[in-house]
Amino acid sequence: MLDSVATCGDINRNVLCAAHPKQSAIHEQVFSYADKISELLKPKTRSYYEIWLDEQKIEERSEEDPLYQDRYLPRKFKIGIAIPPNNDVDVFANDIGLIAIIENDELTGFNIAIGGGLSTTHGNPDTYPRLASIIGFVDNEEGLLKTVYEILTIQRDFGNRSDRKLARLKYTIDTNGLDWFKEELEKRIGFKLGSPREYHFSERKDYYGWEQNHEGKWFYTVFVENGRVLDEGTTFLKTALLEVAKTGKANFRFTCNQNVILSDIEAKDKNDIAEILQQYNIISHTSGASLIRRNAMACVAFNTCPLALAEGQRYLPALITKIEPIISKYDLDDEDIIIRMTGCPNGCARPYIAEIGFVGTAYGKYNMMLGGDRSGQRLNKIYKNDLNESEILNELDMLLSSFKQTREQDEHFGDFVTRKKIVQQV
Ligand code: SF4
Repeated sequence: MLDSVATCGDINRNVLCAAHPKQSAIHEQVFSYADKISELLKPKTRSYYEIWLDEQKIEERSEEDPLYQDRYLPRKFKIGIAIPPNNDVDVFANDIGLIAIIENDELTGFNIAIGGGLSTTHGNPDTYPRLASIIGFVDNEEGLLKTVYEILTIQRDFGNRSDRKLARLKYTIDTNGLDWFKEELEKRIGFKLGSPREYHFSERKDYYGWEQNHEGKWFYTVFVENGRVLDEGTTFLKTALLEVAKTGKANFRFTCNQNVILSDIEAKDKNDIAEILQQYNIISHTSGASLIRRNAMACVAFNTCPLALAEGQRYLPALITKIEPIISKYDLDDEDIIIRMTGCPNGCARPYIAEIGFVGTAYGKYNMMLGGDRSGQRLNKIYKNDLNESEILNELDMLLSSFKQTREQDEHFGDFVTRKKIVQQV
């Protein structure tokens, strides 16, 4: 039920929620909010129905659009909804991040975070990645929808329309101040936001393999390295997914970590699906990949993206193959270290909130970023600029050796480089 209306342009684009709405009863409930927000913020225009023939308009639809009016937003807009303890959607990377507050197994409302966004421009110090700031809590559906809607109207009315590089909500907030924004928002919604409620994110991942949900149905999360569906070597992922689709016994859900969930599988059908996965080596591919590989993510970059300066998805698997022996050398195979790579500073694979981020600067060269935390609540910082592959491997060898020898108990890599001041957090 994905729609393709307004997936691009200066409007609200995706409303991203935990990928499998039937993971639990709470997930189902939260997913319904994502649906409602998506509908609420879709442009009302039906101009794409207009039909032109021989330079004559023969069909016209026009409607008033109270949200976007005649001018849309200054820039694109993104919304994410996370269900703690898993921050799989990277909720703080969005213009609006909603954090579901669950108390005694019940959804009591949402913390509202605003002003996240990761895109930067090389050589333009006015641009920067920013994590969303939490400004309050709303405990009812009507209030939540109103709040989300009016955040967009403020951005519509006050966002920077003269410089597209500085037009995202994060800059509107930093230019005018968070207090100003909250005051303006409360004026528009007509009520005060509640105090933010406590929540705890402990992880940021997809749950690979088989899981059963509250309805007794099964789902299997398939590891799709960097989102590339292809038959390669002894792993026939493309064929396997096609064969699963042919059975009609599973639905397909894309996760925001580039994987696929085969969902809604009846208990009686589970063996049929498992046999297909087994036959095409998907189970060994999913469970056999190293943790560092399963946690890694790259954007499409070359040869698909015209903005790419360096490789992303086509290169990261090979780099990880060279990083894996270093990880093993220091006996760190059980560490869930998060590595992300993009071909340019737009940050589509969210490298600025990885423990180790690589941002392409030129063909074969990457800025190396370090110090993000495991659950996506701290930005990383630049460690070294313009490294080639052998420089990257040398740096990682040195850093992981030091991590192995001087880490504190259960300390994560991103926390370690921060504590050691290997990169400076501001
Ligand atoms: Fe393209 Fe990657 Fe840059 Fe995004 S981050 S614009 S996909 S090269």
